[in-house]
Amino acid sequence: MRYRDLFGQTQRQAPRFPAEDGRHWLMRGGYLYEAAEGGVWLPLGQRLLQNLAAVPQAEGLPQTLPLGWPPPPLPWPRTLPPLLQKLLEAHVHAYRQLPRLLAGWHGDRWYALAVDESAAAARARLHPFWERWHQALHEGGVVLAEAEAASAAAVLASTQSRASAQALACPRCGYHGLQPWARRQKSAPPAEPLQPLTPVATPQANTIRSLAEFLGVPESRTAKAVFLETVGASPRLVFAVVRGDMQVSLPKLAHCLGVQGLRPASEEAIRRVGAVPGYASPVGVKGAWVVVDDLIPQSPNLVAGANREGYHFTGVNYGRDFQADLVADIVAAAAGDPCPRCGAGLEARPAHPILHWQAWEGPPTYLDAAGKARPVGVAALLLDGYAALTALAEANHDQAGLAWPPALAPFAVHLIALRGGEAQAESLYAALQEAGIPVLLDARKASPGVKFADADLLGFPWRVTVSKRSLAQGGVELKPRRGEARILPPEAALARLRSAL
Ligand SMILES: [Zn+2]
Repeated sequence: MRYRDLFGQTQRQAPRFPAEDGRHWLMRGGYLYEAAEGGVWLPLGQRLLQNLAAVPQAEGLPQTLPLGWPPPPLPWPRTLPPLLQKLLEAHVHAYRQLPRLLAGWHGDRWYALAVDESAAAARARLHPFWERWHQALHEGGVVLAEAEAASAAAVLASTQSRASAQALACPRCGYHGLQPWARRQKSAPPAEPLQPLTPVATPQANTIRSLAEFLGVPESRTAKAVFLETVGASPRLVFAVVRGDMQVSLPKLAHCLGVQGLRPASEEAIRRVGAVPGYASPVGVKGAWVVVDDLIPQSPNLVAGANREGYHFTGVNYGRDFQADLVADIVAAAAGDPCPRCGAGLEARPAHPILHWQAWEGPPTYLDAAGKARPVGVAALLLDGYAALTALAEANHDQAGLAWPPALAPFAVHLIALRGGEAQAESLYAALQEAGIPVLLDARKASPGVKFADADLLGFPWRVTVSKRSLAQGGVELKPRRGEARILPPEAALARLRSAL
């Protein structure tokens, strides 16, 4: 392609966005145009999107069917969006129609849907796509916030809007965890002999703080009980136990229970299982789903409620005095908490969710092989191309402009023809095209300074300059975007580019 045929120009300024924002460089490079009225991807930006689009077309991925409608607006609801529900009701009736994978681009967003025999199966079907995107972004230098606490399925499954998403980052080791999935380090207290379970009168001490003050123990020696109810047709009572100095993360808890959502339980429901609000503990409780944070079994001799008004127990020990149905990481991490990898204080950072992920279960239902009606499993995956390219531009620029990773660059070579080198540039242009190397030829009547500055702003991996001077020195000037220039005979330059790309 020739520079003069492009639509879109480099810009001296992009006051709309500060220089640390990737969009500043996308606008200055003539990739993106944005105004108060809206935004447009210019032809060069479209080439970036095409290269992004090629990522899930790589070999080894399952075939997808084209998808003809845009993703439901974010944040995605916890229950199947109504349009999707009706669509599946009309078109999916039996297991023979499953699984199905649909995917397509809608503007700058890639949206994929898997329909399968369960939500987990649908999720698993989209996972290879997820991994491919993840890898491409990672290779492009984008720091992805992750949540190892949840399964990969929940990673970046942020259903929050772009502006409100937050990550916790470690300034020392680089750990990034997207909220609310971020993890924190939990140090177990030293082991000590188990004390007997002893009731103590704790009048008025119905909060962790007042309890710790009253007994003169740190909050880390207490256990906090949180009663919740699952959201849905037949709510189940969930009893979550964390250390008194920590908070329960409802999304983590819901995820590890595999439920859609949780809400605070009513006082009546709490009393029904034999617990007393304000003085509750799992000791003696029956009929609730007990989930304890993984630090609790390692914390001996805790203070916990006695399920009796005005009383607590000391010497409460997991295993001996109570059991759990599930032990998992269910605490929320916050800024200042120790990094799960290295222990340094975590810092809050804004995050741009690039990949969105959600799974749902029907209604509607389908008939399985045995003729039994089962809820249809659906999973959706969305790549926000705008967020992806913004993040990639942020990770790949310097003060002169962009510096695209070769896999995503709109063109591999920026070929500049200067005075006296026009004919040689034309023949190299033809040879590069022949070799299948994407090249942009800048043969405009502009000064070398302007052309070089534009090449830096656009940021293709290689700049090749042909001028009277370079020819006098023995060939063409070959320069990686962030490296030193050298003169090579045209054939050698071509061979070098071929091997590099
Ligand atoms: Zn760290």
